[in-house]
Amino acid sequence: MDQFQLYIDGAFVPGAATFPSLDPATGTPWAEMPEAREAEVNAAVEAAHRAFHGPWSRLTATARGKLLMKLADLVQAAAPRLAALETRDTGKIIRETSAQIAYVADYYRYYAGIADKIEGAHLPIDKPDMEAWTRREPVGVVAAIVPWNSQLFLSAVKVGPALAAGCTLVLKASEDGPAPLLEFAKLVHEAGFPPGVVNVITGFGPACGHVLTTHPKVAHIAFTGGPGTARAVVRNSAENLASTSLELGGKSPFIVFADADLESAANAQVSGIFAATGQSCVAGSRLIVQNAVKAEFLARLKAKAEAIRIAAPDQMTTEVGPLCTERQRDHIVRTIAASVAGGARLVTGGHVPEGAGFYFPPTILDCSAAPGAPALSEEFFGPVLAVQGFDTEEEALRLANDTAFGLASGVFTGSLTRAHRMIRGIRAGVVWVNTYRAVSPIAPFGGHGLSGHGREGGLAAALDYTTTKTVWLRTSDDPIPDPFVMR
Ligand code: NDP
Repeated sequence: MDQFQLYIDGAFVPGAATFPSLDPATGTPWAEMPEAREAEVNAAVEAAHRAFHGPWSRLTATARGKLLMKLADLVQAAAPRLAALETRDTGKIIRETSAQIAYVADYYRYYAGIADKIEGAHLPIDKPDMEAWTRREPVGVVAAIVPWNSQLFLSAVKVGPALAAGCTLVLKASEDGPAPLLEFAKLVHEAGFPPGVVNVITGFGPACGHVLTTHPKVAHIAFTGGPGTARAVVRNSAENLASTSLELGGKSPFIVFADADLESAANAQVSGIFAATGQSCVAGSRLIVQNAVKAEFLARLKAKAEAIRIAAPDQMTTEVGPLCTERQRDHIVRTIAASVAGGARLVTGGHVPEGAGFYFPPTILDCSAAPGAPALSEEFFGPVLAVQGFDTEEEALRLANDTAFGLASGVFTGSLTRAHRMIRGIRAGVVWVNTYRAVSPIAPFGGHGLSGHGREGGLAAALDYTTTKTVWLRTSDDPIPDPFVMR
């Protein structure tokens, strides 16, 4: 079996124990992963803290940017190897991992460019003989925690801005599919970052995550995962009073009006829910379609869903691979059964196929007669689309916003004025109009409500890793006149 190590203080070290990682395509172990426990987590945070106050703080912002640029080039060059590892360890199809990881390099390039553009401001202060200005300073040690899906991407949107801002990190990979991040540590090493600037660990969430998120030397927690875990993380942060940014799940509406280009909308919906085998936070998992075209649109979707090539994730022709874990598939099966019991109708899919691996077919559930179905409110994190019909624009908006989440949304319409009304009315961090799933390092990304708070991507994300220091400097050589009056 393949072996992996933790990366702490610039060295590759074993964990306190090892645990097997399963290949989701076969359900069999393929690698031994190192488990970080309390001692390893503490060592990683201490290393990050030393680096923050030591060599990293002595580098100029331009030098930090150059290191990030080097990392970007290394990620680009290693993309095929990283993609193959992510596919092997998480079951995400090779077509997607290859394209996504090649693009991850651009996130590092973007933040490399931002490193020396984080500026304070001179204040036109309202007092004579006084200069005042602000400095943007790094917050300190960051605990970056990511789930198993798209780990290299989800860590780039944390590691890039945190390093650009001058922070150091402990990056925790999920216990499910940690191989690509542990391999990424080798690129950090090769790029020449001082020891301790980036530490990469994995281990079991509640144990290792608890030590990390309560650690007194952690200043900020950048978390991506589910709302339940996010609550635990926020409770933990009451110990160290670390700031948090939370990128959580979604139950994103995908709204199709009768005046839309239905073929484009159907293709976008297929990608919106079945790409990444539905294991995507932005999955357009609630189709809200105008009743006038509902039957026609569902027929198109059904035909497309049933034509999807389901096969081993390492084949370039595969379109849907296995889910990452059996646990995930069991959750999907239970939620579908509860929805069908509540009156939802299976249009296609819905049953576990024969054979090895954690496969599940593209599934469409018409929930028009089951407004209380869990399929409409709970995140499947799998290839399952819940459908509702509507007649009026007001009804579409009401259904779209009838969720505790607020991450992404899609609107397909031929009317520009309606598009603008929907953009204003939808409560979500991202609105895609006549497109879906577009992302860029330049564009902020994040949600409301159960989808979390804070934004990743864009310049503002780097500023989130800084704190403002205000400096006052008296320019008069005269003695301070009255010590009991504030000036
Ligand atoms: P989890 O919330 O279960 O896990 C996320 C991370 O938190 C993992 O590394 C996990 O470790 C760790 N963790 C678990 N318990 C704790 C704890 N007590 N303290 C600290 N860390 C802990 O998420 P899933 O793995 O189920 O991932 C899917 C979720 O992520 C979905 O809800 C999805 O929508 C969301 N997501 C959001 C995205 C966004 O950008 N908004 C993007 C992608 C996914 P371990 O796995 O080892 O338990």
